[in-house]
Amino acid sequence: MTETKLISTLNKENLPHLDKTYVPSRLLLGPGPSNANPEVLKALALNPIGHLDEAYIELMSEVQKLLRYTWQCNNRITLPMSGTGSAAMEASIANFIEPGEKILIAKKGYFGDRLVDMASRYNADVSVIEKEWGEAFTFEEIKYEIETKKPVIFAIVHAETSTGVLQPLEGIGDLCRKNNCLFLVDAVTSLGALELFIDDWKIDLAYSCSQKGLSCPPGLSPFTMNKRAEDKLSARTSKVPNWYLDLSLLNRYWGSDRVYHHTAPVNMNFAIREGLRLIANEGLENIWRRHNSNAIKLWKGLESLGMDLHVSSEFRLPTLTTVKIPPAVDGDAYRNHLLKNFGIEIGNGLGALSGKVWRIGLMGFNSNEENVDRLLNLFDTELK
Ligand code: PLP
Repeated sequence: MTETKLISTLNKENLPHLDKTYVPSRLLLGPGPSNANPEVLKALALNPIGHLDEAYIELMSEVQKLLRYTWQCNNRITLPMSGTGSAAMEASIANFIEPGEKILIAKKGYFGDRLVDMASRYNADVSVIEKEWGEAFTFEEIKYEIETKKPVIFAIVHAETSTGVLQPLEGIGDLCRKNNCLFLVDAVTSLGALELFIDDWKIDLAYSCSQKGLSCPPGLSPFTMNKRAEDKLSARTSKVPNWYLDLSLLNRYWGSDRVYHHTAPVNMNFAIREGLRLIANEGLENIWRRHNSNAIKLWKGLESLGMDLHVSSEFRLPTLTTVKIPPAVDGDAYRNHLLKNFGIEIGNGLGALSGKVWRIGLMGFNSNEENVDRLLNLFDTELK
């Protein structure tokens, strides 16, 4: 085919004439993603290297070590899965449930619902306990359900991003051990921001994301599992019904073999190494304190403006606050106004809370006093 003929046969219907990629500057104070730390973005912009390059393999080990510190665990299988938080969430179901096995899911918001949906797709026998959106489970409620339902996995969301509830977890690990079930925790909105002790709290399986407490863009989902979970995985009688998320295969790459599974998103791993390094430098205790104190400042400020918080103080989530939309205000219109005129994003309520609350996130790099003051000043001058 001649050059001219080739050009004339090309379909150009979908060939837009665009300028270079540009995105507006935003302060992300919603449910996530949160703004990435500028140092993380510098790491992200480095030229890729091979995913089996010696230098990259060393970086992988550093990421795993840093993740163990951030999770506060010594689990051998600790790795960042390729994909957003939902990837490791699905891996936690796909690998540890065999068809017909019972999973008990404590559901008190949108992400509990997602766990139920995923578990049913893997043909689990799904049992659910439910709470109103804005409440947490008591230890006694969980104890009763585990003892009567006898599941092989008990799953719960630590920080429910849809409602702004922080679920206390202490004691549940012992309960699960006594009842011979695995304890699975969704730590998407808590890892790297809020107190979380995987080993001490006897959590067998946990997953998170890169775009909140770790101050990275979305794209990786940290995952960790202990020996009890490893034993459950090795005892499987059927193949894991998901090739991409099969932990035995993934662990051949992340474990000592370093054998190719899929092409790692190397730049995202440069980024997470930097995000985790910054966390280690600041120290988890300081990070937890910073998230708590900025959240308290926000809560006090909102209340002093006469606004009502959706969750009682005992169970309030420092990384995500749900505040009731004042009755005279059009919630969506005001959120659009903040975005358009000030470049600030806050979130709408999800599901049952849609149109009733705004969701304000203070996560990772964005949890600072200046951001709290900026938002409170805007509410003060504009919502009177
Ligand atoms: N679990 C919780 C508690 C979340 O907040 C989210 C997302 O915000 C997810 C799971 C799913 O993560 P992703 O959207 O990164 O896939």
